[in-house]
Amino acid sequence: MKLLVTGGAGFIGSNFVLYMLQQHPDYEIINVDALTYAGNLENLKAIEQNPKHTFVKADICDAAKMDELIGQGVDIVVNFAAESHVDRSILEPDVFVKTNVLGTQVLLDAAKKHSITKFVQVSTDEVYGTLGETGLFTEETPLTPNSPYSASKAGGDLLVRAYNETFGLPVNITRCSNNYGPYQFPEKLIPLIISKALNDQPLPVYGDGLNIRDWLYVEDHCSAIDLVIHKGVNGEVYNIGGNNERTNLHIIRTILEQLGKPESLITYVQDRPGHDRRYGIDPTKITNELGWKPKHNFETGIRETISWYLSNKEWWTRIQSGEYEQYYAKQYGSR
Ligand code: NAD
Repeated sequence: MKLLVTGGAGFIGSNFVLYMLQQHPDYEIINVDALTYAGNLENLKAIEQNPKHTFVKADICDAAKMDELIGQGVDIVVNFAAESHVDRSILEPDVFVKTNVLGTQVLLDAAKKHSITKFVQVSTDEVYGTLGETGLFTEETPLTPNSPYSASKAGGDLLVRAYNETFGLPVNITRCSNNYGPYQFPEKLIPLIISKALNDQPLPVYGDGLNIRDWLYVEDHCSAIDLVIHKGVNGEVYNIGGNNERTNLHIIRTILEQLGKPESLITYVQDRPGHDRRYGIDPTKITNELGWKPKHNFETGIRETISWYLSNKEWWTRIQSGEYEQYYAKQYGSR
């Protein structure tokens, strides 16, 4: 089996490549990543010498390159490559449309031309918009994205759906809740708060801190995609989530408690425009139809994740320079 994984130097993509080579040592993986600010080859150090893994630095919008790579006998395409940070999408929406919509279409065309056996689009619960105090997102929830990020992901998803309806391309779309775990870029909530708290710096919290996200340990997301690749019914959407809704403040307090840092570091900042209030995933379909079950309990998963960032300080301190410093200053003022 030969897989083309895009975005495999990013947070979830790199965890997925490591996971798949462990679960299926006989599979070959071509890992395509443009190495934007979010891509990091250090995440793949453990498989540097693995002959089953080939890394190619390329942009998914490069049609000739995607055609060449998928034409090398690829069976399955798993598309993680994306601009993924909501705050950045508010500052610069254009690159989100380019990668998340046009890039997806380029991959779909190459997949169609070379008759691949499965195309998995890795998407997000954010395409469903926001929830009130009750209810959960199901696969039937209408798409009502509120940020340029989620709108661009929804655009990609609709193209994937259309290539199935129009051309019969064997596709699945997965929509997962917020992930946490090793190798997450330190602009995202959990690693951001850990790194700031360790340096006794103010912890920026949007609005009242009571926005709710549904958290899933990254390895559980990887196991769900592995199942979808092998058992997913063509054309179907699968929601992925672990029923772990937590407010942002709860997450921050858990981190402060484990690090032994004071709550006085919490600094409320002006809310993100269009900030979705609550996400909650109903994972009944993937649980009942594909037999998926997450392995990680949230309270132990978050503690293991904090420990990982403590033991891998060099990994994230190296990232927090250059482009990242400029972005952070633009977003929150100076450090
Ligand atoms: P990430 O930002 O850490 O990684 C994205 C990767 O894509 C990076 O390595 C980057 O270099 C690469 N990339 C960006 N533009 C590219 C291009 N034009 N061509 C090739 N490579 C390019 O993101 P992540 O958090 O790992 O998310 C991966 C996927 O999962 C995304 O599609 C995202 O929408 C989806 N998702 C993420 C979450 C989450 O909580 N992080 C939840 C649900 C779904």
